[in-house]
Amino acid sequence: MNDRSSTRGLYIGRIFGIRFYLDYSWFVIAAIIIFQLAARVFPESVPGHGRLFYVVLGAAAALLFFASLLLHELGHSLVSQRCGIRVPRITLMFIGGLAEISREPDDARAELKIAAAGPAVSACLVGVFALAAWACQGFPAGKMMFLWLAEINAALLLFNAIPGYPLDGGRVLRALLWARTGNLRRATYVASRFGVAFSWCLMAVGIISLTQGRWDAFVYLLIGIFLRSAAESGYLQAVNRAVLAGIRVRDIMSANPASIPAALPVSLAVDEYFLARHHVAFPVCDDAGAFRGLLRLEFLKTLPTEKWPYTSAGDLVAANNSEKLFISAGEPAGNAMRRLLTPGESRLAVVEGEKLVGIVTRHDILQFIEIHTALEEP
Ligand SMILES: [Zn+2]
Repeated sequence: MNDRSSTRGLYIGRIFGIRFYLDYSWFVIAAIIIFQLAARVFPESVPGHGRLFYVVLGAAAALLFFASLLLHELGHSLVSQRCGIRVPRITLMFIGGLAEISREPDDARAELKIAAAGPAVSACLVGVFALAAWACQGFPAGKMMFLWLAEINAALLLFNAIPGYPLDGGRVLRALLWARTGNLRRATYVASRFGVAFSWCLMAVGIISLTQGRWDAFVYLLIGIFLRSAAESGYLQAVNRAVLAGIRVRDIMSANPASIPAALPVSLAVDEYFLARHHVAFPVCDDAGAFRGLLRLEFLKTLPTEKWPYTSAGDLVAANNSEKLFISAGEPAGNAMRRLLTPGESRLAVVEGEKLVGIVTRHDILQFIEIHTALEEP
């Protein structure tokens, strides 16, 4: 359920147990690619065909480019899963994919293998498309399309080889620094600084091209901005994963939270809990202590005040489908973090079996990370 609420992009399917999503930005890029190919590149290099022919050829090229990105990410993910690191989902962006990994690799060697697998696939694709272009001797349009695909995969390979984390080259750099120093966090920090530095270079190139009135200025600017935020957030995620490694939800939760009896009328729940204890949500439990749902402040607004004395807290949580707002005490703390950082889920009940044992908040987890990061050496 948390996965659905944090979904960005269009779900396209499941391959090797990995859920693939397509970021919405990709549709814009695909449209630009098809337009460029159909209106300029193909008519110039293979003239004499109708407009529809060029559009179909452009769409086929865009589709094969998309398949190339998918294979590149699959390369990373399959090696990652062989190293024992689960990859639950991948979001395909316009210059590659963002894989959501469940944890950091155990050692620098595994990191190196995972990082190199994607570019290795891209290198194979350059060869395959170049070969396909060569095989299309009697069909110039096909030859042009395959040449374009070989070129764009080579460009992707070069871009990803840049040694700035979280690009593949940056992950290779991180693995090498990690192997040398034994400090994953420091290695991630240095590699992500390279990523930020490179993103500034891209933006500078973008601004220079802009002053020369070149249309590709925006491509540089966009990729620069994207890379900068990826480097910053990639580093933060890596730190959080490292800090939360091996930590379970029960280690960070607040135990024995105040809970509202399911049979209690909403009017009394407001007086005795919300007004008396100043929290924005309370777990609701039945007589046996089983969790029934999380009663959030905003649910009260959905119920007219005159109905408060005649509605039980249990009915109100059931009407708002909040029975899913819980997490098991034994789950990794990283899972709790992912859910708590999604908008509207700042608080989760913690259960063992059916029984309520605690509550965990966004504040709890951020404070845990802050304290442990501060105590660790830089
Ligand atoms: Zn890659």
